[in-house]
Amino acid sequence: MYQEQEHVQCLIIGSGPAGYTAAIYAARADLKPVLYTGIVPGGQLTQTTDVENFPGYPEGIMGPAMMEDFRKQAERFGTQIRFGYVTSVDFSATPHKVVIDEIKVITADTVIIATGATAKWLGLPSEQKYNGFGVSACAVCDGFFFKNQEVAIVGAGDTAAEEATYLAKLCSKVHMLVRRDEFRASKAMQQRVLNTENIVIHYNTETQEIVGDGLNVTGVRVVNNQTQEEKVIDVSGFFVAIGHNPNTDIFKGWLDMDETGYLITKSDSTQTNIEGVFACGDAQDKIFRQAITAAGTGCMAALEAERYLAAKEFETAE
Ligand code: NDP
Repeated sequence: MYQEQEHVQCLIIGSGPAGYTAAIYAARADLKPVLYTGIVPGGQLTQTTDVENFPGYPEGIMGPAMMEDFRKQAERFGTQIRFGYVTSVDFSATPHKVVIDEIKVITADTVIIATGATAKWLGLPSEQKYNGFGVSACAVCDGFFFKNQEVAIVGAGDTAAEEATYLAKLCSKVHMLVRRDEFRASKAMQQRVLNTENIVIHYNTETQEIVGDGLNVTGVRVVNNQTQEEKVIDVSGFFVAIGHNPNTDIFKGWLDMDETGYLITKSDSTQTNIEGVFACGDAQDKIFRQAITAAGTGCMAALEAERYLAAKEFETAE
């Protein structure tokens, strides 16, 4: 038996751009949203440095500061923001049941899932050491800082191919580190990489260490896994594009998801397969994964939650 129980109209799970934007819209629509932050309040952006591509910040802003602004704006309209982690859900009936920290159960008329995704990292100590100082998991966010410089990118999927071609437009040279002798990316994306003159592909190549001067990245030590030959490639930026894990494990068995765990929503909508449950942000978007697109789908989710509740009220009144 749970120690506490509470009923809310609109429960938002997650505190990145999607969750907070959903909260701003839901609060202004008087849905009295309650938002649970998850383990990393503010989400992925709290682990980056400068954000220069979010409209409204002409001088750029630090990721953590931007998420503080999001939080304050959500609170200003009355969102209750609470630190806590969703440990299980039960979407078998309405209202939906969501368990927080294994001790509290919340019943909710609508649930907005904005649990985000987590970038996969190689797991090297040097990668952690230089994260934000030359190491990044987002070329679109950080590529600009390496204009006219040489960079490396690890990965061979669609993301790596897309990000390598993006970087090639900004940087003098892009070294693409592919661990097998072939790409995983679609043929079209591969072709784009192969047709880009300043991308050098290093097949059968694994990263051993990101080399730096203590402050910034200066190179990457790699090994050819066929010949065992080692070398250092001089670069000032190192991009990791080996995939993301959507934070959706707790919804398994309840919500439709693709084979990699991304939540599936109806076309042009954030509606999941369960009525009254909406999904937005990186938990349902494996293609764009930008703060601005997450915020956009967060807005959509709140508007759809509001319409859903209004329709329900109308049905009961009839
Ligand atoms: P994927 O899982 O498709 O690819 C990950 C890549 O990283 C693989 O090439 C894998 O190598 C490599 N990799 C994994 N771990 C390591 C490691 N430790 N060291 C070196 N390399 C490693 O992830 P993506 O993010 O590229 O794509 C995810 C999904 O999103 C896919 O379905 C993709 O099609 C889709 N997508 C679509 C886009 C579009 O349509 N425009 C854009 C971006 C993504 P290996 O091949 O050897 O396993």
